Amino acid sequence: MPGAGEERRMNYSLELDQPELETISKPPLLMIFSAPSGAGKSTICRKLRDRNPNIVFSVSTTTRPPRSDETDGVDYHFVEENVFKEMIENNAFLEWANVHGGYYGTSRQAVLDEIEQNNDVMLDIDVQGGQQIRRLYSEAVMIFIAPPSMKELERRLRARGTETEQQIKKRLKNARDELEALENYDYLVINDEVEEAVKEVESIRRAEKCRLQRIKQGKPTL
Ligand code: 5GP
Repeated sequence: MPGAGEERRMNYSLELDQPELETISKPPLLMIFSAPSGAGKSTICRKLRDRNPNIVFSVSTTTRPPRSDETDGVDYHFVEENVFKEMIENNAFLEWANVHGGYYGTSRQAVLDEIEQNNDVMLDIDVQGGQQIRRLYSEAVMIFIAPPSMKELERRLRARGTETEQQIKKRLKNARDELEALENYDYLVINDEVEEAVKEVESIRRAEKCRLQRIKQGKPTL
């Protein structure tokens, strides 16, 4: 008796022998985006989502206070530390990490719901979270967004004007450590010009959706 996964794989391989190949569905992707703070990852993710109706953004939960331009439930779910810790206990997160002194986590149920709806899910998470997802689901598409240089990163962080001088220094130090995690990723996109970077990510997505191995495996099981 084949298990559920094997049965699905068999069905797929049968379908691949059929002439009606257009009936084969392309499973949703779990796309992981990591980058040093200020590399432009959020802008890229926003553009991707706005241009592609089947890409959704996973809204993380965090204990860091909202910035003036952020909305609860849209940019993050902002919670107190005791609530976050309770969520960890209840296994509510696919992954979580302490980043720049605050807790951040990805809601397991929200991601599963989107996958069930056949949507590609983007996770904007740090390199620790990226590693956890990789261990959990090796088929995740891991994309690292890098700035053209550390100098440019510092310029962007200052221009953004949302962090104190002390926070900027911390983020620049963390950026050097994060760049070392690059080898855990599948793709490197250098965000020199944002439109070009978005095009590169769209190309990665298209190619990944056509990977035969992925089509045979079906929906991500998390
Ligand atoms: P920011 O405070 O600038 O919004 O985010 C700081 C860092 O936390 C970024 O690198 C961002 O990708 C990361 N981050 C945001 N949400 C999550 C999450 O759910 N999990 C993890 N591991 N990192 C996250």
